[in-house]
Amino acid sequence: MSVTQVAAYAAPAAKAPLERTTVPRRPVGERDVLIEIKYAGICHSDIHQVRDGWGEGIYPMIPGHEIAGVVAEVGSGVTRFAVGDRVGVGCFVDSCRECEYCLRGQEQYCVKGMTGTYNARDKQGEPMYGGYSTHLVVDENYTVRIPDGLPLDAAAPLLCAGITLYSPLKHWQAGPGRKVAIVGLGGLGHMGVKIAAALGAEVTVLSQSLRKQEDGLRLGASHYYATSDPATFEELAGTFDLVVSTVSAPLGLDAYLGLLKVDGALVNVGAPEEPVELNLFSVIQGRKTLAGSMIGGIAETQEMLDFCAEHGLGAEIEVIPASDINAAYDRVLASDVRYRFVIDASTI
Ligand code: NAP
Ligand code: ZN
Repeated sequence: MSVTQVAAYAAPAAKAPLERTTVPRRPVGERDVLIEIKYAGICHSDIHQVRDGWGEGIYPMIPGHEIAGVVAEVGSGVTRFAVGDRVGVGCFVDSCRECEYCLRGQEQYCVKGMTGTYNARDKQGEPMYGGYSTHLVVDENYTVRIPDGLPLDAAAPLLCAGITLYSPLKHWQAGPGRKVAIVGLGGLGHMGVKIAAALGAEVTVLSQSLRKQEDGLRLGASHYYATSDPATFEELAGTFDLVVSTVSAPLGLDAYLGLLKVDGALVNVGAPEEPVELNLFSVIQGRKTLAGSMIGGIAETQEMLDFCAEHGLGAEIEVIPASDINAAYDRVLASDVRYRFVIDASTI
């Protein structure tokens, strides 16, 4: 395929609604695969970026970094994939490939900066366009295999939401005998509950209300509390080995640090647009750790997909036509998503 225009949905400017457009895709290079996209998840990060909440957004912006599809063409040097393979692409599509983090399989922390799937520029300075589209050309080294046991629609959100929770849960050793709390039961949070439970941890959901309690327990949590009730913070003080926050808005860190045991960790994966305040006594007392974590590397993303297939863990999804993207954004912003919107790319 030479440079081709394919259908896509884009935000023409910051905060503008998304509309149908076309996007150029590069010719399939020697190490590239052409992916016919089947499904693309809607991550809250898409909304932060479309609305320029993190700043320096590149427009027109075609979001989408939870991409699941089928290989339609391979370059002459491709060895890992064949036409017809079920594949996924997550939040980045390139990195320097030679720094200590790339060599360690932590390409997301590349010292020269990973090349984001969208709202980024490639090594030639050309803007990148994401997965709300029908086709994508990607280097095979930044493409992962979706195991047969996972339906493509339920697998798409794993490419961001799944790996963003899997990586810190593994790093901070969620497992048998460990008490883990997941804050926020949205796209990331619901995968956190499923994965932490499958790893053998005792899982608690901390949600704004008890509205989704039944779902949380069905997904694998043993306990469910409302953070709107101040009694929750008294009752659970000193309880957890690990608290993972997926909240998209600034969090009262001191209150959540108070829920940790001595040596416990509060890991923030939510990426709010505003800074947060911290009283350092919240970490001094109890030798606590306040940390963050960003997605995961390619090898770990493959490991996560294999783990999810083995344990039957897909995302809980609502498949929508592309014409509903803007309405879906409004529902995500209102915490009214159960638990990930996934765009059916055939409607683009
Ligand atoms: P989401 O589906 O909207 O889920 C976020 C959840 O946080 C909501 O469902 C809600 O859960 C809770 N929440 C929202 N506003 C809140 C508020 N004002 N106070 C308290 N709780 C609130 O979003 P997502 O796609 O899971 O993404 C969550 C965040 O992670 C976003 O900021 C996103 O940009 C970021 N993210 C980070 C990474 C990374 O690598 N670190 C990767 C992907 C996404 P309840 O209704 O249960 O309270
Ligand atoms: Zn994401």
